[in-house]
Amino acid sequence: MSYTEDDVGPLVSYLDSGKRCLCGSYCFRSFVHYLTRLDLRRVATSVTADLCGRMHAPAEAFLCSSACLQRYQSNPYATLWRDR
Ligand SMILES: [Zn+2]
Repeated sequence: MSYTEDDVGPLVSYLDSGKRCLCGSYCFRSFVHYLTRLDLRRVATSVTADLCGRMHAPAEAFLCSSACLQRYQSNPYATLWRDR
C-alpha cells in the first residue's frame, strides 16, 4: 500500500524503515539482519558463471522473530516462506 506524508504525517520515516521478513511480515525495530549468498541456479533456469566460476550473488535479508530465525536455520536456502 502506498502512502504519502499527507496520509500518515510524521509516520512516513517510521514506515519507510520497515524491513520485510521471509515470512512476509514487516518488522520495524527488532529484527535479524543478515547477509548471505544466493545460489542463482536455485532461482533461474539458465545461469552463466562469472570469470571465477561463481554462480552466487550476495543477498541481504531480514528475519522478524526467533521462529523465523529457526526456520531459516533449518532451511538456509529459503528465499520466502510459502505457507503464509
Ligand atoms: Zn518472519
